[in-house]
Amino acid sequence: MSGSPELDAALVAALADFAAHDRVLVATDFDGVLAPLVVDPMDSRPVEGGMPALTSLADLPGTTVALVSGRALAPLGELSGAGHDGPLVLIGSHGAEDSRGESGLALDDDQQALLRTLDEELAALREEHPGLRVEDKPAGRVVHTRGLPDDEAQAALDAARELGARHTSLEVTPGKGVVELAVAHVGKGVALVALADELGAQAVFYAGDDLTDEHGFEALADDADAGRAARRLTVHVGDGDTQARFRVADEQAMVALLEALLFARREATAR
Ligand SMILES: [Mg+2]
Repeated sequence: MSGSPELDAALVAALADFAAHDRVLVATDFDGVLAPLVVDPMDSRPVEGGMPALTSLADLPGTTVALVSGRALAPLGELSGAGHDGPLVLIGSHGAEDSRGESGLALDDDQQALLRTLDEELAALREEHPGLRVEDKPAGRVVHTRGLPDDEAQAALDAARELGARHTSLEVTPGKGVVELAVAHVGKGVALVALADELGAQAVFYAGDDLTDEHGFEALADDADAGRAARRLTVHVGDGDTQARFRVADEQAMVALLEALLFARREATAR
């Protein structure tokens, strides 16, 4: 395959409608949307073209661009190349972190104690399932099973979910080959609508590939601002059931989409 993937005509028309509003929020997940999923989460790199398109969009009037990820803020800024002080807003840890705010999270004593207990139990889990990766996040831990044989990965994911179920104040978020166990949780949906409110955005674009992004798609559909809900442009990347209005095949198709959005937004804001 060569050249840009063709975008669906209905999607191109929706991009033009979206781009015509005065104030818009363009938000996207990172892994599985801008960067292919990889075995070691720290090996993740964005595909060519996606980040430059987003940075150019952020330069246009009335356009705010946000990366909304389950990752902690620091690796999100580093791996995306967006940095902390760049033109993009970074929302990390499923909404618990925001690059514009004070860095770090204030966990209370109970949450800190729960995080220590979680570390002890995950150390034991790692002895049972060698090859399991545990990623540290400010408000939780993520168990990664990508790269493990299928049956081994399933057993490890089940054990991590059981661990989460035993501690009722842990927020358990399953994903593709991952389970996140968080002591504080906001959620991508809540974070997206809050950001749209704060910006006074008339329309929100959101693209994602995973279960946590479905919460984003649902929250935008249920937005208390009914007009904005009707104007939402939601895109799911890859196969599988989704609440999103549109779908693209992969990260390359997402680059083509973002470039088309940039073109449409340049046209609309030049008028
Ligand atoms: Mg993702």
